Amino acid sequence: MTKFIYTILIFSLTVSNIYAQNLNKKEEKSKKRIQKHIEYLASDALEGRGTGSKGEKLSAAYIANEFKKLKLKPKGEDGDFIQKFSVVTLRMSKDSSSLSINGIHYRIFSDFYPLSYSTNSKKVNSTIVFVGYGISAPELNHDDYKNKNVSGKVVMIDIGSPDSQTAHSKFANYLSLKHRVEKAESNGAAGVVFINNGKEADDPSGELSKSIKPSSIPVFFVKEGKKTGCVEGLEFPVTMNSSILSIVSYGHNVIGYKNNKAKYTVIIGAHHDHLGYGEIKGSLEPNKTAIHNGADDNASGTSAVIELAKQLKKRKYKKYNYLFIAFSGEEMGLLGSKYFVENPSIDLKKVSYMINLDMVGMLKNTLIINGTGTSPFWNGAINVLREDSSDIKKIKTTESGIGASDHTSFYLAGIPSLHFFTGQHEFYHKPSDDISNINYNGEVKVINKIVQIIKLSQAKSKLEYSKTKDEETKTSFKVTLGIMPDYTYDSEGVRVDGVKDGKPAAIAGIQKGDIITMLGGDKIKNIEVYMKILSKYSKGDTAEVVYIRNDNTYTAIIKF
Ligand SMILES: [Zn+2]
Repeated sequence: MTKFIYTILIFSLTVSNIYAQNLNKKEEKSKKRIQKHIEYLASDALEGRGTGSKGEKLSAAYIANEFKKLKLKPKGEDGDFIQKFSVVTLRMSKDSSSLSINGIHYRIFSDFYPLSYSTNSKKVNSTIVFVGYGISAPELNHDDYKNKNVSGKVVMIDIGSPDSQTAHSKFANYLSLKHRVEKAESNGAAGVVFINNGKEADDPSGELSKSIKPSSIPVFFVKEGKKTGCVEGLEFPVTMNSSILSIVSYGHNVIGYKNNKAKYTVIIGAHHDHLGYGEIKGSLEPNKTAIHNGADDNASGTSAVIELAKQLKKRKYKKYNYLFIAFSGEEMGLLGSKYFVENPSIDLKKVSYMINLDMVGMLKNTLIINGTGTSPFWNGAINVLREDSSDIKKIKTTESGIGASDHTSFYLAGIPSLHFFTGQHEFYHKPSDDISNINYNGEVKVINKIVQIIKLSQAKSKLEYSKTKDEETKTSFKVTLGIMPDYTYDSEGVRVDGVKDGKPAAIAGIQKGDIITMLGGDKIKNIEVYMKILSKYSKGDTAEVVYIRNDNTYTAIIKF
């Protein structure tokens, strides 16, 4: 190779590298703005922005003020940017809950406990009848309420299944506690007492969920069901008193509107809440009472929404109106985005598509875009993005509209939705998710890609919606391996990005960096296939796992 060509080559490589790394003037300014937002939102002063906390309110106020400075139109309630919604932050049974059957008093917690579906406060004085599994499945020729008038009575229900199966039962659609409580209520029952005679199912958890909507009746579980003597055909006097402490506070969505007088609107959103001091479920260091700053999760996304609002104000992309939303309650179960979809401040039928940014602050080589199956438009547009890989080396996509972030709420409402994500990392859901880890240049590049998608979509009016395959499967998990998969990895198998202590994988000796290729004889192609295989297992099952470490293959026995 002549010296001259060699020099040209080196020169062009350096230039492209400098271009890839360095930001132009405009991008430098953008980076500074993003940095300012992230540093404030992820500062200790906001105490981890737990929904309903003072820190979350400060975060909402900051975002509203930024929207105001950008002269966005308030689209919350009462002409304000804020849309408030109630969240249950604590639910626990008081020991004044009581139960007596046939004159025998049962002790709270040791003999019985209220379940999440129980109303918070109600006394019942009636009789109790046994109704088998509490299932009416006409197509399966099974009706436990046949010829039984349970109106005003308490019903005792065995949580097992008529075919003594749980995982592969033909009654699968009827087995959930939710379904059985609703059935009892619709038959006019005054209360439900669950028991577990067969033991093929696990006893229900006594931990009261904050996100489950209570029913209108007391719902308890009795540990030793058989001892009650309640059997078919017998009716006993019963008293039930459901007494549950429920503390409600508020989450704050922040909503600003850029009206371009267009027919359709694009929604751009990110959640601004996080885990507080780790008291909110989901912390991976729950025993450490420390501020979970949530720099990447999701001060990065929230800052990008503010930055996009600024950029889209200036740019000539006037084919759409833009609605910018910072959701709260995401860590508690997508509560803010669900609330917005149920209480929209614009007509959702006039929404062309939604872009969600959750964890966009730690770009390595790969940008992940989830939800590409939600419109036929996406794959073509993303291929255009791929043409220029000088800034972001790789773009990995997944089809499903269902994922662990707010785009899911919009997809389920029939809106094409994408989720931008720079991948999992070891600081995820820990106090160590700090500003020092943030790749600001990377975030600027991610925002550029989003602007490019918005630019490409100007050629369309309203994007066509398509349902994604995965939705049908509805996989539910009874067990976990206790690993954190690497979402940026796209070769055969699942690459382990983190291992939780005391969980099956850790016990079997699996480590960060290992690639799991088989479980129980089933080949693992990717994360989706792994999830499906995992959903086959129940507690107590064992399976052989095959994994690769430093190019060597190992096997181990997993006990779930
Ligand atoms: Zn998040």
